[in-house]
Amino acid sequence: MTAHDVPTTAIDIAAAVRAGIVSASDVVERHLAAIDAHERDVHAFNRVLADQARAAAAAIDAAVAAGDDPGPLAGVPVALKDNLCTRGVPTTCSSKILDGWRPPYDATVVTRLAAAGAIAVGKTNLDEFAMGSSTENSAFGPTRNPHDVERVPGGSSGGSAAAVAAGFAPVGLGSDTGGSIRQPAALCGVVGVKPTYGLVSRYGLVAFASSLDQVGPFTHTVADAAAVLEIIGGHDPMDSTSIPEPVPDLSALLDDGVDGLRVGRITDLPTGADPDVVERVEAAFDALAAAGATIVDVEVPAFTYGLTAYYLIAPAEASSNLARYDGVRYGLRVDAPDTNAMYMATRHEGFGAEVKRRIMLGTYALSAGYYDAYYGKALKVRRLIADDFARAYERADVLLTPASPSVAFAFGDKTDDPLAMYLCDTYTIPSNLSGHPGMSVPFGTGAHDLPIGVQVLAPALHEPTMFRVAAELERAAPPTPAPRMIDVAVGGAGSAR
Ligand code: GLN
Repeated sequence: MTAHDVPTTAIDIAAAVRAGIVSASDVVERHLAAIDAHERDVHAFNRVLADQARAAAAAIDAAVAAGDDPGPLAGVPVALKDNLCTRGVPTTCSSKILDGWRPPYDATVVTRLAAAGAIAVGKTNLDEFAMGSSTENSAFGPTRNPHDVERVPGGSSGGSAAAVAAGFAPVGLGSDTGGSIRQPAALCGVVGVKPTYGLVSRYGLVAFASSLDQVGPFTHTVADAAAVLEIIGGHDPMDSTSIPEPVPDLSALLDDGVDGLRVGRITDLPTGADPDVVERVEAAFDALAAAGATIVDVEVPAFTYGLTAYYLIAPAEASSNLARYDGVRYGLRVDAPDTNAMYMATRHEGFGAEVKRRIMLGTYALSAGYYDAYYGKALKVRRLIADDFARAYERADVLLTPASPSVAFAFGDKTDDPLAMYLCDTYTIPSNLSGHPGMSVPFGTGAHDLPIGVQVLAPALHEPTMFRVAAELERAAPPTPAPRMIDVAVGGAGSAR
């Protein structure tokens, strides 16, 4: 078999590598060649780990040759969001403030993927510290959407979404605090999953808002996402919020269909989604109904307030989490005559505008006199959202919404208007606040023939049902168009590899 016969899904790659039909080295070379050909246009990566990937592939091939088990994801290339710690390998969060920092340990998800035989091919670009919806907040220049390089890939995990869409790796890992896996997945035409809070370890994920952050996969198929989540999920004693249970079997029900399942339509969902997006979500309801599901109307009145509550809670937590970047412990230090001046100069130089905005918003929301009015009130709204979802899930097994209100937008469209950018996550944020799982599944195209994702939401730990519905949507979905990467002058967005 030649490198040209390398399969495209993680499951097929692992099966072929395990059976000795294709070598892990061929798989890796094939993906590095795709990166060589198109990364200049896409800028998915902050760093490509070519040597490390080749060495890992050789080790997998040696294991196969020796008759050892190379792992369930043997030879599967993985693109890691650059806020996941990788031992000895720079982890930047796409921020200048971590310049030169090399973590002394691997994130648990990184360790688990490697133990399963997967091969890290690079660290992907993101909005600085995962704050944003377009990757335009990266200190290293934006990532471009492989479906239209004049448009954003979404964010904050835009690099991982673009890497998968572009064929640089069949699997990407991202983090989702308010939608940063599901929204870029929707914009790039790939599957993206935000698991139940606590299902996947955050040990080694650089914290943004700790009560909301979750790690999850990007893949081409629902089955691949299930396979990856089965590897990275499950209890980790190194993360105190990790649920002390094994990850449920997600792959088993994928072919079961949706006959008898109740799919909820949120009648009081916030408006604002573009007509092409609304049309695809309606088509998704129709497809599930045709496959035997019952569509039920539910109300989630507090859904509308999710965005407002999030922009108090997430910045509040961020202002605390980011206090550690002081020029002493990590990365950048800007020298100054005394310690206080050094802190100020370092943080002034090291953080970008959006990160500074969040730190100020969060500090304000937590300050004496405002705490009850802002942060405290947001926590009450958070509770209302959870209660509303609980009532809705008495009547519905899953809920269907848009993942993103629009298809991929052009660079610069929303950079002058933070609120417009924040509105990208209207439909994804509430399930972060409630801790519930959600995923985006490609379901055809809209304006400019760009991908649209439908979001499936489910109660905590009901991933098996969520994946079952996602698999049905995948079967009913029109084919996602191939990426239209073309050569463009990349002006300042070059890879920092
Ligand atoms: N776009 C949202 C924000 O800027 C969500 C980010 C995320 O999920 N990391 O905060």
